[in-house]
Amino acid sequence: MKKRTFIKLAGTVGAGMLVAPFVGCGTGKEGGAGNALSGLQPVGFEQAPLGYDFGALAPKIDAETMAIHYGKHHAGYVRKLNKAIRDANGAYDGMSLEALLAGLTEDKIALRNNGGGHYNHTLYWRALTPGGASSPQGAFKAELEATFGSVDAFADAFAAAGSARFGSGWAWLIRNSEGQLEVTSTPNQDNPLMANIVERPGTPILGMDVWEHAYYLNYQNRRKDYIQGFLDLVNWDVVAGNAGA
Ligand code: MN
Repeated sequence: MKKRTFIKLAGTVGAGMLVAPFVGCGTGKEGGAGNALSGLQPVGFEQAPLGYDFGALAPKIDAETMAIHYGKHHAGYVRKLNKAIRDANGAYDGMSLEALLAGLTEDKIALRNNGGGHYNHTLYWRALTPGGASSPQGAFKAELEATFGSVDAFADAFAAAGSARFGSGWAWLIRNSEGQLEVTSTPNQDNPLMANIVERPGTPILGMDVWEHAYYLNYQNRRKDYIQGFLDLVNWDVVAGNAGA
């Protein structure tokens, strides 16, 4: 079994992007010398650059869906997450997003929805980065086969988790608390790191957004076709890295 069972997303997208300090005291955004507001203006989390063009995933995920999804939906989660953090009056200052999610309880609705929304989408964009392996390879492939019987059986289970999620939510491949790969799903923007909230906690390895906003312009109600398109686009080198393989 792989030792590396807890993957920090921040370690893959750049610490400055995802776990920037919440209180502005010179993160570079204010300029070298800072200014009068730099000690007063919360910085909060930032949306990492997508790293590829909105049209790069077309036709399976169209450019307009990407532009709205990244530029409106994900950006909105980040904006509302930062407001919720400011409203908490310092309770989360300096905390990583992973630690914040892990400690949440069900009543922290704004942090739950928007902290999950930020983490989930960051993982999603990275898994879709064009290039990389078009199917699981090497040690990661072997672990999928050992766990699910075959790569196809894993893909079927993952697709079924996305299809069966009623309403809005996510399908996941996680590494669970026993260190095993597992397919799960969560409603809304819940995330497997939310150990006090989700049924099956673990470390997210691959997340598939099955909210209608992820596919409706291109696929309308055909969620299964979108799921197949998503699986065709996945960069399995990124996913294997998330799995520690
Ligand atoms: Mn989404």
